[in-house]
Amino acid sequence: MATIRSAPRIVIVGSSNTDMTIKAPRLPRPGETILGGEFLMSAGGKGANQAVAAARALDPRLRGEVVFIARIGDDMFGRKALEGFKREGIVSDHIFTDPVAPSGVALITVDSRGENAITVAPGANARLSPLNIDAASHLIASASVLLMPLEVPMETIHRAAEIASARGVRVIINPAPAQPIQGGGLLRHVSILTPNETETEILTGLRIDQEKDLPAAADALLAIGLEAVLITMGSRGVYAASADLRELIPAFEVEAVDTTAAGDVFSGALAVALAEGMSLTKAALFANAAAALSVTKMGAQPSAPHRAEIDDLLRRDRF
Ligand code: ADP
Repeated sequence: MATIRSAPRIVIVGSSNTDMTIKAPRLPRPGETILGGEFLMSAGGKGANQAVAAARALDPRLRGEVVFIARIGDDMFGRKALEGFKREGIVSDHIFTDPVAPSGVALITVDSRGENAITVAPGANARLSPLNIDAASHLIASASVLLMPLEVPMETIHRAAEIASARGVRVIINPAPAQPIQGGGLLRHVSILTPNETETEILTGLRIDQEKDLPAAADALLAIGLEAVLITMGSRGVYAASADLRELIPAFEVEAVDTTAAGDVFSGALAVALAEGMSLTKAALFANAAAALSVTKMGAQPSAPHRAEIDDLLRRDRF
């Protein structure tokens, strides 16, 4: 018997990496070697971080699911990453194993203020193809939300966005790592963008030095035909803009230990909130809380909070 799907399904297309992180007093200068401290090897990659953040943020009572579409190498890093996704309850049937390219790796340095510098070797991520997307098109077409960062080939992202928008599925693009998006093509299919300040500057060509620069940047992005833009601003919070909303939502006050993946946790939690039917303002607040919790812990995926912690922070904030 056919069942009508009402539980939220969040589909994420993106990268999976293994992060090797060293804490150091400061970031090294070119040509310099410095002695760091603590070393952590953990699962990362913008797509995978967002998938894990979404899986943990999902309300378990709704029986929803997070589907991750990605490409890993046939190696120890890839196998470990896949085990991790399964442990998180992520639907992993469309995580493809590349017979040649290695799994993606990121080398990260984090300084004493929680700032980071990152170098990525994409490996198999760079070979996630439109054909891989076609193999999962039924899941994308029936998703509540499709979320994609930009760490896999643009033609692949474009194909997924096209399939989703043709079926009225909301497409959220986290335009990271920062790069210009060619006009016309991809953005025609996108509903919501979640750039940070640097990404906003690259997308719009406008400088953002102060809060007063935000409305013009948001206007420029909304003029493309987007439903909403959420400009994340680190410890200053998030600027939410749509046709009938302009709001600077301050960040939750927390002690920042490692800001790696703050933007990923923000986008993953935002996708869940929208898939669960929250309004844009409520969803932005929910994502703001999830991202604040993530900066209080080291690592990318290990730092993503669970739903109970997010709800708890939002409840405490109300009193
Ligand atoms: P990215 O990691 O993509 O550069 P941001 O630095 O803008 O993204 O951070 C994304 C979100 O994470 C912010 O909008 C905010 O909600 C949260 N966040 C980041 N840094 C802090 C912080 N120091 N305190 C509280 N929340 C933070």
